[in-house]
Amino acid sequence: MSAVYAGLEAGGSKFICAVGRSPDRISAETSFPTGVPAETLGRAIAFFAEQRKYLPLAAIGIGSFGPLDLRPNSPTYGYITSTPKPGWAQTDLVGALQRTLDLPVAFDTDVNTAALGEHRWGAAQEVDDFIYLTVGTGIGGGGMVEGRLLHGLLHPEMGHIHVPHDLSADPYRGCCPHHGDCLEGLASGPALAGRWGRSPGALPPDHPAWELEAHYLGLALVNYIYTLSPQRIVLGGGVMAQAQLFPLIRQKVQALLNGYLQATEILAEIDQYIVPPDLGRRAGVLGAIALAERLASDG
Ligand code: ZN
Repeated sequence: MSAVYAGLEAGGSKFICAVGRSPDRISAETSFPTGVPAETLGRAIAFFAEQRKYLPLAAIGIGSFGPLDLRPNSPTYGYITSTPKPGWAQTDLVGALQRTLDLPVAFDTDVNTAALGEHRWGAAQEVDDFIYLTVGTGIGGGGMVEGRLLHGLLHPEMGHIHVPHDLSADPYRGCCPHHGDCLEGLASGPALAGRWGRSPGALPPDHPAWELEAHYLGLALVNYIYTLSPQRIVLGGGVMAQAQLFPLIRQKVQALLNGYLQATEILAEIDQYIVPPDLGRRAGVLGAIALAERLASDG
């Protein structure tokens, strides 16, 4: 009986647990709302403990909301650190699963994990330099440079960059609790709701909200393109379920770059350059399985 991998997508509103080997070989899956840490982690641990009675688990991959401590030599490696989510600051996520399940644990941000899922099985399969940006309740970005997941000093926080904000055109002050009108403060789902007084799903496709949304996201993407030179950009998350955003964002990016970058991918093939995820909402949990697979095959 060959081993399978365990994947945990630890989201701020929902935990998704699965065991399996690939998108079409998932043997069990469950999800439940994110409550207090002890109860939520207990449910995840109980699920994996039950599953391993039927199939041996080789490793577990965890993609989590953050901020996180990903520095292997840090005393708080594997912790969720300074999150404003009540009860979750300084939670030892990796330790809780490692102690009870006694499995090798791979750990990364939710967005890097989703990026790995798209690289392994989805929209970023043939590129080793790419960005995965999620635009939803918050905005976060991960991805790869030369085939390695981006980490650096801590981990990228692409949602908190600052983009030009013309208060005369857009008097909305922004909703980021840390920075006000950073990108997340101006372009996340809660920002759309705060500015227009309606949830993003209730705004019709021809509403001016989308032109402004594409403007902010286009500014952000141009900054990422100039600094990281990605071969592709995958845009996921609840706000990006609004399909009309894709052509608007592509136009904004081309207009802002203004012909400066002479790459066919951007000039003529932008429909394949800025794309939705192939795995959709499953990118996170499948990416967690891919994280575990990488750990087991490296080890
Ligand atoms: Zn911010």
